[in-house]
Amino acid sequence: MGLREFLRRLFDFLAPRLCCICQTRLDAHENSVCEDCLRNLPYTMYHTKALNNPLARLFWKRINIERATALFFYYPRSEAANIIYDMKYHGGRDIGYDMGRYSALWLEKHHFFEGIDCIIPVPLSRKRLRKRGYNQSEDIAEGLSSVTHLPILTDVVRRVTFHESQTHLSHFQRQENLKDAFQLRHPEKITDKHILVVDDVITSGATVCACASVLEKAGEVKISVFALGFTQD
Ligand SMILES: [Zn+2]
Repeated sequence: MGLREFLRRLFDFLAPRLCCICQTRLDAHENSVCEDCLRNLPYTMYHTKALNNPLARLFWKRINIERATALFFYYPRSEAANIIYDMKYHGGRDIGYDMGRYSALWLEKHHFFEGIDCIIPVPLSRKRLRKRGYNQSEDIAEGLSSVTHLPILTDVVRRVTFHESQTHLSHFQRQENLKDAFQLRHPEKITDKHILVVDDVITSGATVCACASVLEKAGEVKISVFALGFTQD
């Protein structure tokens, strides 16, 4: 047994890690979600048709989209929702990383990363970042990068608008707010590049579109999209 494995088992013994879905104790080789729960996630399988699927179609004619996929379908109060909830609100830094890594192992087999130059996680506003302490999309990106070795760029786009809860706003107001929510800072770093934009959950695709539109200002940019969850309307 190596030192790393020994320490892992020691920590597991002292403070057992639990599956974030069923709360049973994780085995040493399991990360964040147990094997049983992983097996039962409502996978989209969109990576097998990454050019044309309901998520990719959300972006057609809006941005220069290449491929798009999400790991699983996300609906509030579903079992899979625990993953997102713990990741965002319970400081589950490992969850984003582990799920990103797990996703990348699958996607790689289907050549999803072919031709992609870098990863850009959808940024949070400074205010939100301060409150939460971390950007969960960045954690997912780190997990993806641990498998693909693609560089993560966090200084190319910034989220600028005051990002209060938007639940009280109309659909139209939300769209208008989003339009100015992102600012391009180092266009020279992404000109001519194929970028993987990473978000935690995608519903209408409006946030990713707003972010990608700004990236496209750098010129000759191709966009692919990955999210953990997809809420299909
Ligand atoms: Zn479980």
